[in-house]
Amino acid sequence: MKVRVRFAPSPTGALHIGGVRTALYNYLFAKKHGGEMLLRIEDTDSNRFVAGAEEYIIESLNWLGIKFDEGVGVGGQYAPYRQSERKDIYRKYVDFLLENKKAYIAFDKPEELEAKRNETANFQYDASTRLQMKNSLTLSENEVTEKIAAGENYVVRIKIEPNEDITVNDLIRGEVTINSSILDDKVLWKSADGLPTYHLANVVDDYLMKITQVIRGEEWLPSAPLHVLLYRALGFESAMPQFAHLPLLLKPEGNGKLSKRDGDRLGFPVFPLDWTDPKSGEKSSGYREAGYFPEALVNFLALLGWNPGTEQEIFSMEELIDLFSLDRVSKSGAKFDYEKGKWFNHQYLIRKSDEELAVLFNTSTSLSNQFDDATLAHIVGLVKERVTFVQELWEQTAFFFLAPTEYDEKTVQKRWKAETPALMQELIVELEKISDFSAANTEEIILGWISTKGYNMGAVMNAFRLALVGAAKGPHLFDITAVIGKAETIKRIEKAIETLK
Ligand code: GLU
Repeated sequence: MKVRVRFAPSPTGALHIGGVRTALYNYLFAKKHGGEMLLRIEDTDSNRFVAGAEEYIIESLNWLGIKFDEGVGVGGQYAPYRQSERKDIYRKYVDFLLENKKAYIAFDKPEELEAKRNETANFQYDASTRLQMKNSLTLSENEVTEKIAAGENYVVRIKIEPNEDITVNDLIRGEVTINSSILDDKVLWKSADGLPTYHLANVVDDYLMKITQVIRGEEWLPSAPLHVLLYRALGFESAMPQFAHLPLLLKPEGNGKLSKRDGDRLGFPVFPLDWTDPKSGEKSSGYREAGYFPEALVNFLALLGWNPGTEQEIFSMEELIDLFSLDRVSKSGAKFDYEKGKWFNHQYLIRKSDEELAVLFNTSTSLSNQFDDATLAHIVGLVKERVTFVQELWEQTAFFFLAPTEYDEKTVQKRWKAETPALMQELIVELEKISDFSAANTEEIILGWISTKGYNMGAVMNAFRLALVGAAKGPHLFDITAVIGKAETIKRIEKAIETLK
């Protein structure tokens, strides 16, 4: 049987990073098995619908290279893939369940349910209480028909038989058995909007769309026994997909589920892209805008809950597809180690060629046109080991483009002594004499001069660096002089002598 999996988000806001990982694991699993993956939008809960969320989800997954074979935005033989457009399809299954007495109609008003909850501790609508309620099990057929004809709102509830062990065979967690008595008669459909709830729509669509594995977050594990019962009640049992519930992403400290607040508190994004909530206007930052490479985020997420069983940490999407298996997904939650995420970005950054990085860097500064492409690539190559994000390259290279206008206080105090100006004047004289200003040649001549004169190496070099960079930082000094050239080097020393008098 061909592997078919789905990513089935509800468009209730920005896609959480845990949801991105779910999509990724579905994708890796599908591709590994030569199967297909579809995108289904589960938008049957109109109260939770958020404008723009669907587009956000699609844009996020596109950015990360998680591709769909079918679904919203792609089409396919089981279209439509947006549940709100499949109303008529679900109604048929609701009728089937009612006819077969696997479900019943309930008229209890919200305030009546509320009253019941207040009067009975831990009230649950189930086999032990449903005969006290207002539904088609307690009302006559006529009463039911009349109420419906009179336009009274109702819901359809699943009729769960008590005291039955239900086993879910989870590909990650193994056998999970619960007793049906702990389940309530969940609402499957509401006459008010003619829409099914998540449970019915999810199961019917997985069946109709020929889904073979349901790979989703651990928060859905409690729904799985109900889904098993629904498969049976609908007569789909033989086509029931296998379940795989992925471990939670945990707070960096390791206790509890990773939330948006953790990101705000510790200063990292929990969403793939920037997001502005259309109602509250609240803004959240995303990995893309924070400067992450999509490949780095994919690599980082792949290893949050899965491991290849080797020491290897850097994987391309192709390698991940090749190695992925649900057997190696852990049962326990995965700590969200944001520093590790940065490490991955750094690893991807240093693996990019200097030329490629120079192009990315180029777009962030207008000053870059004072150098040719090869020099820009060379500059970027000199500092790339020191940065995590492309946008940090500027801070590390600004002095190549702009002469310092101020000098770091502490460094001046430490490195610029009474005798320094005279030393720097002499240095200028030596530099003037050099015709081949390449890094190696300049270095040889200047170091030779220092040692012949018996000068203190640190005294010359630290002051020299301060004059060129304005601080005690930057790559190898003679790499800097070679890039900015003789005239600019001398000009900067003169300026420092002048300014630091
Ligand atoms: N619509 C559910 C969600 O938002 C889907 C859960 C599932 O994959 O079954 O995650």
